[in-house]
Amino acid sequence: MTRTVYVNGDYLPEGEAKVSIFDRGFLMADGVYEVTSVLDGKLIDFDGHVKRLWRSLAELEMTCPVGEADLLAMHRELVARNGIEQGMIYLQVTRGNPGDRSFLFPAADLPGTIVAFTQDIPNMADAPAAKTGLKVITIPDLRWSRVDIKTVQLLYPSMGKMAAKKAGVDDSWFTDEAGAVTEGTSNNAWIVKGNRIITRALGNDILHGITRAAVLRFAREAQFEVEERAFTPEEAHGADEAFSTAASLFVMPVVEVDGKPVGTGKPGPVATRLREIYLDEMRKAAI
Ligand code: PLP
Repeated sequence: MTRTVYVNGDYLPEGEAKVSIFDRGFLMADGVYEVTSVLDGKLIDFDGHVKRLWRSLAELEMTCPVGEADLLAMHRELVARNGIEQGMIYLQVTRGNPGDRSFLFPAADLPGTIVAFTQDIPNMADAPAAKTGLKVITIPDLRWSRVDIKTVQLLYPSMGKMAAKKAGVDDSWFTDEAGAVTEGTSNNAWIVKGNRIITRALGNDILHGITRAAVLRFAREAQFEVEERAFTPEEAHGADEAFSTAASLFVMPVVEVDGKPVGTGKPGPVATRLREIYLDEMRKAAI
C-alpha cells in the first residue's frame, strides 16, 4: 500500500513527497526527530515525545514550524489515513532550506522543514524477539558529545547496527572511555541484579529515553530498587537479567552480551514483567 506522508503541511502519497537538496537536514544533518509508537491506533506517550522534541530544538536554537496541538492532530491524521493499528510515527524537523550550502545557520525566521511518516508493524506488541531476547556486542562509543539531543546524525549508530549484524547478533551497546556502557544504538541499556534495576544516569552521554523515564516510574511503583548509574559489560555478565528500552522496542530482554549469556541466557521474569506493566499502563494512557 502507498503510504500517505506529511511534508510541510501537506498530506501526500509517499512517491510525491519531496525535500530540497539544499535542506540543512540533508546537507548538515541539521535536524532533530522523534519516534512515537502506536498501539490500538493510539499514540503512546505523545506528551513525552513532544516535550523532548521542544528540548532538542531549543538546544539547537531551532523552532518548530508547527505547534503542539497541530502536531498531535497531524500524528492522528497519519494514523487514520494509513490505517495504523500498531507501529510508529517518525517525525523530523530540520533547520530548513536556505537555498544554498553554508556552515552558518540561516536567519532564525527561515521556516524549518517538517516531515512525518508511518511505519506499520502489525505484531509490535507481540514481537517474537520479546520471547527469545536480543544478543548484543559492545563497541566503543564514538558519537559526538551531545547525544542527549535527538539529532538525525545517525551514521555511527547505523554502523553499530551493521557491526552487530556482521557479528551475527541483534544490536550493539556502546561503551565509554572508562569501559562502561552508555546505551544501545537506538535504545537505553539496563541490567537487573536481585531486586535492583540499574541504568545509566541522565547526562549528555545518553539520549533521555521517553520509554526509560516511564519504565523507571513503573519499576519504582512495583517496589524495585532503582539505581541510575553506569555499569560495565562485565557487570552485565554477572547480572540476573538485562534489557533495552525504546519506543520501538518497549522493554526488550537482552540475553547475551559479547558472546556471554546474561543470567540463564533466556528472558527473565523482571524484564518480562516490566514489559507487561509498560504495555498495560501505556495502552491505558494512550491518546
Ligand atoms: N537511546 C538512543 C541512542 C536512541 O536512539 C533511542 C531511541 O531512538 C533511545 C535511547 C530510546 O529512546 P525512547 O525510549 O524515547 O524511544
